[in-house]
Amino acid sequence: MSLPTIDQDYFVEFLVKLLNVTSPTGFAEPAIAFVERELSQFSQLKLSRTRKGALVAKWDPSAGSGQRVESDLPPVALTAHVDTLGAVVKEIKKNGRLRLSRIGGIQWPTVETEGVWVFTSKGERIRGSVLIDNASGHIFGQAGTDTPRNDEHMEVRLDARTISRNETRALGINIGDCVAFDPRVEVTNGFIRSRFLDDKACVANLVAAIKSMTDAGLSPARTVYFHISNYEEVGHGAAAGIPSDVAELICVDMAVVGKGQESDEFSVTLCIKDGGGVYHEGLNKKLRALAEKYGIPYKPDVYVFYGSDGEAFWRSGGDVALALIGPGIDASHNYERAHMDGLNATTNWIMAYLLD
Ligand SMILES: [Zn+2]
Repeated sequence: MSLPTIDQDYFVEFLVKLLNVTSPTGFAEPAIAFVERELSQFSQLKLSRTRKGALVAKWDPSAGSGQRVESDLPPVALTAHVDTLGAVVKEIKKNGRLRLSRIGGIQWPTVETEGVWVFTSKGERIRGSVLIDNASGHIFGQAGTDTPRNDEHMEVRLDARTISRNETRALGINIGDCVAFDPRVEVTNGFIRSRFLDDKACVANLVAAIKSMTDAGLSPARTVYFHISNYEEVGHGAAAGIPSDVAELICVDMAVVGKGQESDEFSVTLCIKDGGGVYHEGLNKKLRALAEKYGIPYKPDVYVFYGSDGEAFWRSGGDVALALIGPGIDASHNYERAHMDGLNATTNWIMAYLLD
């Protein structure tokens, strides 16, 4: 038995568009709404929102299709998050520039000179860029290089005429306004390079699995909830919003690629253990058997500085078998990169799981 074909052009187009929707944690509504619009084309899905703002898509294979589900297996869920690292305005400096407070711990050197949008509470957006506060090489020379990149020294220079706190305030900017870093998406030679592939790549995996199965006229073997989370980067995204009758939860989130890691950009990873502990052995075994059955290239791996939305659900009292899978992402929480081979392997594993 083979899996449905994945429409590659559709996958890339959807992912690139999603990457270009700004969605720092706490300000992820535009990305939630974007995914909601996309999923609304699949009439078999029942869409809803949690009070926290996450998107839930329920696919009950027996509803509306005339098709009877033979087993009375309990429902399962898959989750991926659309929220990303970002920042808010912490302080408007005397020179009119902005000091930021980071969301989700983005590391300053990875965004030095990056373009940003500042979203005012009145609904306008103002362009700018992130710089060290002694940026000019002609003035500061070596001192500019030696200055630590931290909350104290990094600032936003606005592309607007302001050299004072009052002028910046007059632009409509205020404390707490959302600041989004440019994703800088580029697709080359099967690679997708962008910020925030964590975890928009995996949201695209879920959407592509739904589309591929729908196009092939296939339904999941049991009721499935797709939970698109909006607070993962601060540690509690899926802590709420997974229905209590769900027996298994697959968290789909990026795999760590780099020195000492087994994961790579051309495979999907089964995370056995991360900073939050060990995943469910029984569900892992089931996933491994499916990967072998369908010839899906997967790697087991152990992550160090990593916690998942599935663990957030476990910690909040969720009683499910839990596994974590995802495509290998190079340079995570930095300028990330994925390859279509790893992305396709992830979509295929999701479909194998849903059809089993
Ligand atoms: Zn993630």
